[in-house]
Amino acid sequence: MVTIGVLALQGDVGEHVRALEESGARALAVRRPGELEAVDGLVIPGGESTTMSKLLLAFGLFDPLKARIDAGLPVWGTCAGMIMLASHILDGRPDQKSLGAIDMVVRRNAFGRQVDSYEEDLEVKGLADPFHAVFIRAPWVESVGEGVEVLARAGDDPAGPIVAVRSGRALATSFHPEIGGDRRMHGLFVSLVRGS
Ligand code: GLN
Repeated sequence: MVTIGVLALQGDVGEHVRALEESGARALAVRRPGELEAVDGLVIPGGESTTMSKLLLAFGLFDPLKARIDAGLPVWGTCAGMIMLASHILDGRPDQKSLGAIDMVVRRNAFGRQVDSYEEDLEVKGLADPFHAVFIRAPWVESVGEGVEVLARAGDDPAGPIVAVRSGRALATSFHPEIGGDRRMHGLFVSLVRGS
């Protein structure tokens, strides 16, 4: 069985732990560099990316995590986690750092700064039926580099904003797949970590 960490500095940790366990993985909350060494893959949850960036540095996790990602650790960022995986952030704070796991430009709070969320049944490449996606002050992907595959666009529009991407063994989604009972996105990541 694969062990998948959930970065547990802040954000939707418990929901991801549960969803991963229901998808056939062992899940581990990761707060220290030592815990990071024990995982085969890592989920970076939603929350607040500027806070997460600060806490990664304060907990001494930023450099070890970046090193493991650069060495090929499978990662999946959801919402704030997507921002953390970007190579470039738009509308971020000047001191905000990201891990550069995926060659993409991500715009923070792209759907507007309002507190409310929106929901949409999204066509996601690799899933047979639409996925009910919940967006909460979500980012979107403004552009992707070569080798980054677009998995979903919002607004039921082939030219709509990019909200899910994959680059090798790194995955990023603007929405919160841990909300609601649909485990297909977690299943996709577990398969990716297993290498199947
Ligand atoms: N707007 C948040 C940020 O900038 C992300 C919101 C979320 O993760 N739900 O990090």
